[in-house]
Amino acid sequence: MSRPRAPSHPPLPSGSCHCGLIRYTLRTLITPTNTLKCNCSLCVKYGKLAHLLPSPSTDITLLSPLPFGAPLQVIGATAVQETLESRELADVVGSYRFGRGWVTNYFCRRCGVHTFAIGNPREEDGEVGVGVNVNALDGLDASGMEWRCAGYYVDGRRDFEGGVGGRPFEGGRW
Ligand SMILES: [Zn+2]
Repeated sequence: MSRPRAPSHPPLPSGSCHCGLIRYTLRTLITPTNTLKCNCSLCVKYGKLAHLLPSPSTDITLLSPLPFGAPLQVIGATAVQETLESRELADVVGSYRFGRGWVTNYFCRRCGVHTFAIGNPREEDGEVGVGVNVNALDGLDASGMEWRCAGYYVDGRRDFEGGVGGRPFEGGRW
């Protein structure tokens, strides 16, 4: 009898900005069906394909940049946010908010790549979520036909009133 084969896990995704200043790993599996596109003015201009982390408090680990004397990595949305908002990193990591300002988009000030956003678009004090920019992940082969569309579409332009759809909401892109 052959032993059952151990389940094979695809490697966990990691991402970075273009110049490598911002680097992070994720604990999630990204497939075409769990990616989304939003029709808000920023996502459209940015052409962002996003993925929401299932468990924001554990699913993101920041490897770089880290303030001097910090531990080698910072785990979880809140800790990552605190780190990136620290005075010491303000010159290298940009944080961009618009509209109600409940979500912060983090980008590299050197190369300009948006890496991920942290916050809750519907509630100022709501549970913090993380939307990662799938296009900034390293080693993800999204060349297959199954990647032609996002898994679902959201209506950020109208405060997500439209819920979730199978095609872009007004102003959005496929
Ligand atoms: Zn960069």
